[in-house]
Amino acid sequence: MSGAAGPQPPGPRAGGRVEVVCGPMFAGKTEELLRRVRRAEIAGRRVEVVGHALDTRRGAGTVSSHSGFATPSRTARDADDLERLVREAGPLDLVAVDEAQFFGPGLVDVVQRLADRGLVVVVAGLDVTFDARPFEPLPALMALAERVDKLTAVCAVCGEDAAFHVRLAAPTGAGDPGDPLAPVAAHVGGAETYEARCRTHLPDPPWRGQPGGGGAGASSTSGTNE
Ligand SMILES: [Zn+2]
Repeated sequence: MSGAAGPQPPGPRAGGRVEVVCGPMFAGKTEELLRRVRRAEIAGRRVEVVGHALDTRRGAGTVSSHSGFATPSRTARDADDLERLVREAGPLDLVAVDEAQFFGPGLVDVVQRLADRGLVVVVAGLDVTFDARPFEPLPALMALAERVDKLTAVCAVCGEDAAFHVRLAAPTGAGDPGDPLAPVAAHVGGAETYEARCRTHLPDPPWRGQPGGGGAGASSTSGTNE
């Protein structure tokens, strides 16, 4: 574990890894992300925090948690933009990416490339949609990460651990198509729009439909004759 000295050889560099912090809304994901950022800064590491352009809760240039903890950040529009931003930032030890679900499937390869270059990449985001389906790219990132912390919120009905969240309000129309997978700013919303729920108090999850009806767990289309 000696410090980097001399020219770096091409190819993967030691020390890189991927850490995923995931869960439903209100699980404290951003707070945990920023806790790791703060620890790295205390250790003298060079850190960059990157948020998504859709997250405008505290204005551009700041990543903040529901509990009010905030840190200066850069803003990226997509995964390619994130990679360019990190390249231009100069030498870094740790990159923290918030609201990772907005960056799309391209984030998986970008994060692996950054880790290959020796960076610690901490990615925080929703791994589940408000209708209880896997929310890519977090599930893929979880599979390829060295460390995964799946946090839970507190069920708004009974107080048990909540791995899900539900949407309370109907779609508002403009800019909010009501699609759980759509990358729109409305999905960053706060306590007034969403509620954390445990499994027992989750209304209408897809897997309680008809057997073989194409719920979240239905992955194979072969072998069905209708
Ligand atoms: Zn509950």
